[in-house]
Amino acid sequence: AHVVPIASLEQIEQTYIMVKPDGVQRGLVGEIISRFEKKGFKLTGLKLFQCPKDLAEEHYKDLKAKSFFPKLIDYITSGPVVCMAWEGTGVVASARKLIGSTDPLQAEPGTIRGDLAVQTGRNVVHGSDSPENGKREIALWFEESEIVQWTPALASWLRE
Ligand code: UDP
Ligand code: MG
Repeated sequence: AHVVPIASLEQIEQTYIMVKPDGVQRGLVGEIISRFEKKGFKLTGLKLFQCPKDLAEEHYKDLKAKSFFPKLIDYITSGPVVCMAWEGTGVVASARKLIGSTDPLQAEPGTIRGDLAVQTGRNVVHGSDSPENGKREIALWFEESEIVQWTPALASWLRE
């Protein structure tokens, strides 16, 4: 078994993935989690959560000036979401590829949005757009005690 030195823990890439309220209401939680799980990344945090308005606004603060911002906040707070933290080398960009384009009609078949959604305002899932935002968003949505460090038994079958 590998023991990860504390110093290198900071370097491990992390992404914040969230099943949005439409994904939860439509019963797509298992399907969406399954795509990341099968890819081979490591799940380190998972919870069902009702997002308060101030958290939604902080999460999407870069979009505050956009005309769709109020509707976006209503959407994200309209019902429970499923919050996830995933980690692994290259996880941020790879998760964005698994998720597909923001507009589900432009998203390739085989991607989550390409397969499961039809509109930008109901695009079922969020994924961080950079490693920096991955760390920022995980810190925003999770308590430190909710993040679990563990060594998957299959690690040596996923990476040589
Ligand atoms: N969004 C929207 N209308 C737009 C652009 C974005 O409702 O014209 C919503 C959509 O839910 C999107 C979220 O705002 O997922 C964040 O936008 P961003 O550009 O960051 O897209 P993402 O990173 O989610 O693909
Ligand atoms: Mg984004």
